[in-house]
This record gives sequence, structure tokens and C-alpha cells, in this order.
Amino acid sequence: MANCNICGEKISRWHRAQTQPHFINVHPDYLKWYVHYLNRILIIGLIVVVAILNLDIYLISKYGYATLYPLVLLLAYGVVIRIVLFKNLRRFRLAWDKTHPLQQ
Ligand SMILES: [Zn+2]
Repeated sequence: MANCNICGEKISRWHRAQTQPHFINVHPDYLKWYVHYLNRILIIGLIVVVAILNLDIYLISKYGYATLYPLVLLLAYGVVIRIVLFKNLRRFRLAWDKTHPLQQ
């Protein structure tokens, strides 16, 4: 068991967020945002990886080696998507707390 990041209720660990009955029934607005978020980070992540590969191929063909900057870019991307996730989780939690003051 795990705790819901929005309301704190116990939820199963064995479901992905998209198939989590608790999110489907209690937090449909969060689930809608989360699916959109996943699609966006996958598309942007794919663009980042393709851009890095193209730059590496260019650097290797021109200079014979590539640098470590791709790791920094990937790390920065990972940090940004975590910040976006936590910021939005906080937004959904605050909205939940406003509408359910007795469950705090
Ligand atoms: Zn919940």
C-alpha cells in the first residue's frame, strides 16, 4: 500500500496512475492532467534525445569525440519534469484541502 499524494488515502501500489481506481474515481481532474503530462514529457524527451544524438554525431564527425554535455542536458530535463510534477501535485493537494477541510 501507498498513500495518495493528493488526499493521503491508502492506495494500491500495483496500479499505474492511469489504471489506479482511486485516481479514476476520486481525482479524475488530476488523472487527466497526469496523462497529458506523461504524453508531453515523452514527446519533449524524444525531441531532447534526438537533438542530443544529432549534436553528438555532428561533434564526432567534426572533432572525433563528443563531450559530456548530453548527460547535463538529460539531468536538467529530469530536474525540470520533477519540478513540474511536484508543483502540480501541490496545486491539486491545495485544491483538495480547500474542498475537504475536515480530512486534513
Ligand atoms: Zn487521493
